Amino acid sequence: MAVNPLANPKGIKLLCELCQKPALIQCTKCRLTYYCGAEHQNIDWIGIHEKVCQLLIPLRTPIPFASGSEEERKHRKEQQKVRQKQMIELTRTVGQKLLFEGKYEYAIPAAMQSLKFSIDVYGLASIELVPSYLILGEACIGLGRLPQAEEYLSQAQWTVLKTPTCSNAIKSRLYRNIGLLYATQGNSKEALRQFADDIYHSSLEFGTNNISTSGGYFHMANVFFRQNKLDVAFSLYSQVTEIWFDHLNNLVDQRIQEPPPPSGIGPAQIASEKVEFDHLDEAQEAEVVQVLGAILELRENQAVQTPSTMCSIYFTTAMMHLVLNNFEKARIFGTKALESSQAGVTIEESMKNRIEEFLKAVDRLL
Ligand SMILES: [Zn+2]
Ligand SMILES: [Zn+2]
Repeated sequence: MAVNPLANPKGIKLLCELCQKPALIQCTKCRLTYYCGAEHQNIDWIGIHEKVCQLLIPLRTPIPFASGSEEERKHRKEQQKVRQKQMIELTRTVGQKLLFEGKYEYAIPAAMQSLKFSIDVYGLASIELVPSYLILGEACIGLGRLPQAEEYLSQAQWTVLKTPTCSNAIKSRLYRNIGLLYATQGNSKEALRQFADDIYHSSLEFGTNNISTSGGYFHMANVFFRQNKLDVAFSLYSQVTEIWFDHLNNLVDQRIQEPPPPSGIGPAQIASEKVEFDHLDEAQEAEVVQVLGAILELRENQAVQTPSTMCSIYFTTAMMHLVLNNFEKARIFGTKALESSQAGVTIEESMKNRIEEFLKAVDRLL
């Protein structure tokens, strides 16, 4: 990532990728992005550029106008669009993941990149820009830049209002982010109202007990927790844990089932084919780590702990680690879950069996 003093032969005004101020340096690997200084280059590199530096080359190199037949040009244009859409997907997921990891500063370049491509593909007024605005808004909330966050979120809200066909998924994210903004400003009442709207729209899109809806419950719980309404807060945290429990339980099932013995029917190669598991995307991985980590910490800090509650959060955490291939940690938390289950009189036998089966599978994987 060496830097070059910028030669600017054509006299075009080159602007910093991040802040739009006049650029002084250039990325020497792609020679396509410019920065006001090393600091912004560094943030962009860590946030997104490292992942897209080489991918940008075919995307930002203009298609020679006169070359090839009309059909070839059309084909190249379509190919370009596919690449741009893949880029939007990639940069959004990276931005979202960085948000869950609390790396707000680095989420901004990823979101800016996704916004630029969304504008290229869909135009300035499109609802497709909203996910990028929302990542930018949330990053600014995390950085305490509230006026800027408000600006991004009102841009998002305006676009949603202008788009009657806007999906419930996007509405849910919008209300979640506005809720976060209110929560940061200390306006609990308005924050709770927004999270309720978030949960409503997310339930319509994904279902009440879907992991996509669980984030709304989690943020709501945080507001109640800060208000010291612990009963409500912990009942919502339990709901979040249960949703992740069910989801992870499914994923774990796929991973720990022993392969069926060869049946002798059908071509032999089927038996040796690698089984494809359902998996969490990068943003979901970062979310589950953040959410379960926070709930576990709160539970462990409670003066009084009930074995059934602890069993549930330990086992959910253990399953998360298995899905993330941290088998060592899966065993540590699985063992804690088993101990809690033995201490709790109300815990069903089937749960204990399940945990024991899980631990045996972990031992096989280790
Ligand atoms: Zn800059
Ligand atoms: Zn580059």
